[in-house]
Amino acid sequence: MNARYFVDYHTHTEFSPDSDAEMLTVCEQAARLGLSRLAITDHVEISAFYQNGYDKTSALSFEKAGEMQRLFKGRLDVIRGIELGQPTHDLDTAERLLKEYDFDFVLGALHNLKGEKDFYYYDFESVDVRSVMDRYFAEMLEIVRWGRFHSLAHLTYPFRYIPKGKYPEDYGFWRDEIDEILRLLASRGIALEINTSGLRQQIDKLMPDLAIIKRFRELGGEMVTVGSDAHKAEDVGKNILDGIRAAAGAGFGHIAAFKGGKAEMIPIP
Ligand SMILES: [Zn+2]
Ligand SMILES: [Zn+2]
Repeated sequence: MNARYFVDYHTHTEFSPDSDAEMLTVCEQAARLGLSRLAITDHVEISAFYQNGYDKTSALSFEKAGEMQRLFKGRLDVIRGIELGQPTHDLDTAERLLKEYDFDFVLGALHNLKGEKDFYYYDFESVDVRSVMDRYFAEMLEIVRWGRFHSLAHLTYPFRYIPKGKYPEDYGFWRDEIDEILRLLASRGIALEINTSGLRQQIDKLMPDLAIIKRFRELGGEMVTVGSDAHKAEDVGKNILDGIRAAAGAGFGHIAAFKGGKAEMIPIP
């Protein structure tokens, strides 16, 4: 294929605790599929940076991605990225990490609230969804206010674990909060990620969904990135074209592809 817009800007490898995909295999798969660019974005959870050894895995991932860049030169553009979880839980550590490594691309993410476990572990049948999600959107807003990243990963992430029927499907309770996040992203020139992993899961939706992507455009958003959030080689590039179609459907004419911290705007045909 090798179409320029066929890029994957969210993938995990052996240097993420929840993946054992060898980075080499992930890159080989991307090259085989004809992706033009592949961003390696291994997890770095700032809320557990030293406890869980992210100081070491971030270094290893960065180094290995550099090796892959050289190895795949001319075949696949490998981007040295990171998925930075909960940066506002320890801003000093987050800032230090960003200073130490020259990441091409930084995803900002929120997987757990301050002092809490990952949303994955909640029993959403027994917790108050409204108040947990109020906190989620409030923390998301703090992350965007800080803003030292290029694209906001999987907005609405916890909903993939919440049974449908426990919240309005249009996220109506949180309309104002979502608007505020989108407006701030747009005004600060930060991209919104269209994460396609939901299409492989029970929620069966993009994260965020088309309505939110459209709203981002209405509120002045200009940049979207697209990522599969693959944790194994066979998921690399999955549903990327659905994500690009959603971007076009929301009125975006380009996909943002970051390198050296700068967005290259690739036209959607
Ligand atoms: Zn994530
Ligand atoms: Zn991820």
